[in-house]
Amino acid sequence: MAILPIVTYNDDVLREKAKPVTEFNEETKELIDNMFETMYNSDGVGLAAPQIGVSLRIFVIDADNMLEEEDEKPGPLAFINPEIVEKSGRKIPLDEGCLSIPEVTDKVIRPEGVKVTFKDQNFEDREIDADGWVSRVIQHEYDHLEGILFIDYLSLFRKRMHKNDLKEIEEGKREVKYPVRPKL
Ligand SMILES: [Zn+2]
Repeated sequence: MAILPIVTYNDDVLREKAKPVTEFNEETKELIDNMFETMYNSDGVGLAAPQIGVSLRIFVIDADNMLEEEDEKPGPLAFINPEIVEKSGRKIPLDEGCLSIPEVTDKVIRPEGVKVTFKDQNFEDREIDADGWVSRVIQHEYDHLEGILFIDYLSLFRKRMHKNDLKEIEEGKREVKYPVRPKL
């Protein structure tokens, strides 16, 4: 397994629509293992393949640490070729951050619940009905596969508040606790 550098917010790969996975082999498994290791190393709760420069429809999550004692815990889960088949509940604001935009957080409004179909890390067909933080992480990571970042949802005013942070990240001047790869 290997820890891979994470690309930062202005990298072009984060703006591409990622391609469906068509090969289900050892290489795919290795990629997913590396994504988990990279996510844990950076204390993240989710990581999408474009964030390590791979434009494929895969993301991994492990949001168990954010959940309450009594909550159902999905554990480490890979989503290959995920489809959001239903969004439900109220639209609620929650604080989001992103490993590609280190130390920038802000409130994003999204629906409370999602139903998603996908293949997991064992290449088995799965369906999950998620709410709370699990739903939030899934929606954030799914967006990465569509070339969308959470800052895209912010008002011009809020974007302006983060302008200096973004500039610092863009110029590779921000100190980050995990390996990152600023755009060349
Ligand atoms: Zn992100």
